[in-house]
Parts: sequence; structure tokens; C-alpha cells
Amino acid sequence: MKFWNLRSIFLVLGTFVGVPAHAFQFDECWPDPVTWDNDVTVKLSPVSFPTTHPIRNDIFTSFGRWNDMRGMHFEFENIINDNDTTMGLGSDGNEVGLVSNAAAGGALAVTQMRFDICFFGQDIEEADMRFNNSVTWEFGDHDPRTVEGNASFRFTAVHEMGHFLGLNHEPNQMAVMTNTASAFHGGNAAFRSAPFGDDARGARTLYSHSNSETDFSITNFRRTGSDATALILGSGTQNTPRGGTFNSGFAFVNQGKTFVDANFVIVMSTNSIISMSDRVIASGRAFGPAGTFVFATFPLRVPNDLAPGNYFVGGILDPNNNIAEAREANNRVAFPGRVNVTP
Ligand SMILES: [Zn+2]
Repeated sequence: MKFWNLRSIFLVLGTFVGVPAHAFQFDECWPDPVTWDNDVTVKLSPVSFPTTHPIRNDIFTSFGRWNDMRGMHFEFENIINDNDTTMGLGSDGNEVGLVSNAAAGGALAVTQMRFDICFFGQDIEEADMRFNNSVTWEFGDHDPRTVEGNASFRFTAVHEMGHFLGLNHEPNQMAVMTNTASAFHGGNAAFRSAPFGDDARGARTLYSHSNSETDFSITNFRRTGSDATALILGSGTQNTPRGGTFNSGFAFVNQGKTFVDANFVIVMSTNSIISMSDRVIASGRAFGPAGTFVFATFPLRVPNDLAPGNYFVGGILDPNNNIAEAREANNRVAFPGRVNVTP
């Protein structure tokens, strides 16, 4: 359900309907999902992940995306250096490293796994994550206003770690587990390459834990088809006179475990830093159960008294911090494109 009312510029974006029970995918061995029996130790190649390179921060940040998720009991418990450069199943533990294009099968990365036999349940025994060293990676946190040029290492690592946990590809939801696409939440670098609501529900199904988590976020991306994502808004400039309307929009993600009903505001800003000191031009509510991903586009009006000039437009969820969240850094984003306000 998505609707809006331009006259009052109060927007409502959300759903009361439960998200599908089995959107995320995993292997099953009757009667249980195939999972790790315990937390695991992971061995990093110090040649692949040297302390002097941002790739090391990226891989640790990516482990943190899963380890910091509450209401999910699996953890990458020990992440240690391992100078053994042979990577292979059955060799020595769960190894992570850069490999040749051929060893990665021509993919960005591949996670190879070994299982015990399926007999009234099945465990994962070993997993090796291999990243392609011939890819021109983007390191660090991706700009959430843009589509990837080079593949994000951080995003790819979060995806491979999803496989490591036991999640399979999910082409039909907004998810880090999509096969070919990627999309980024808003907020600061402490969050962007992160599981979406569907991924979080998957992890919590495989490794359920009674702890709760409330966390929602804003994103400029939407799903456009099987394994495909795109920016919700174009990145160009909309020339709009004062009092005229322009197109806007965003998506609301609930990656926590609780139903969320949050206020939001839309602002116009002279810079890409979106804050409550910018001019508020609309407000609304975004809501939905755990796992929700909803987006909307809508027209907005430029205030008659706004000074002509070039503006960023952005959104802030829960602008007055009424709802306590596990992560507060993912609630705001500047939208792609600009609005050039003319007299
Ligand atoms: Zn994959």
C-alpha cells in the first residue's frame, strides 16, 4: 500500500501486510535448515588483506554487518591471520583470500562449502571465501546516491558471508543475496553495505535468537526485476520554478525484528549533508513489519519563498529520534540528482 496527498504534503509509505514467509532461500535437510553447528573461526590471508590496504578494513566491516545483527546467534568468532597460502576444501579451516580469476570461476567471488551427510539434519563443516583478484574493486563505503561503477568489495563480502551462513541467492527481493545486483542504504559509512530486511530475516531463521532489534533505514535504490536494482530517482537536474513541483522518492527498509511506524521529513539542502537544519518541505509516515521494503515516488512543491539556486533533496527517518534503534546512522540520505530552483 502506497499513497500520498500532495495538498497537505503529508506522505504515507508502508504496509500492514506481512512479508512472505520464505522469501530468503536456504538448503534444507529434513526437518531443518542446513547451518553451522557452532560459531566459527575464520582464517584471513595476510597477503590478501594487508594492514596497509583498505581491503582489510572492508573485510572486517563486512564481518561486523552479520556479527552485529541482534536476534541471530551465529558469529564469526575468531578472525585470525593464516599464512598458509593453499586454499581448498578439506585443507585447514575456513579460509578467506584473493584468488585468480580462474580460481574464482570468473565471478566476483565464490564461497565453496563442505557439508556432513544429510540424515535428519545437516551441518556446514567448512566454507572458503575466494575473492577475484583481477576485479577492479571499489574499496570503502559506496556513495548511496550513485550506481556502482566498479563492484563494491564490501558489498560483495557481505554477500559471500551470507552464503557462508547458509543463505542462497534470492533474486525476487531487495537483498544483498541477489545474484548480480547491488544496492545501498543511506546513512554514514558505518552502515551502507549491509543486509536488507529479507537477508536479516533469513539469518534469523537459520540462527534464531530471542534478542530483539529495532532498526530501519532509508535507501535510494529499488528492485527493478529478477536480480536487478536501480536508483529510484534519476541523477539529473530538475529545473523547477518557485511554487512548481518536481519528482522525488525513496525506499523504507525495516531490517529489525519489530514492527516499525516512523515519521519522516523531506528537506531541500544547499549541500549533500541532509539534516534538520535544512528546509523541511514535506513530512510523512513510513511503517511495516520486520523485513519490509517499500518505495514510492511522488511530486513535491518548491516553497514560494525558497531562494533560487541548486539544491539537494533528501530524507530523514525518525527526525526527532522518537524510536530507539540498534543503529541510528542509517536514517538519512541525499537523493540522487539535484533541483535547480528558478525565480
Ligand atoms: Zn552469490
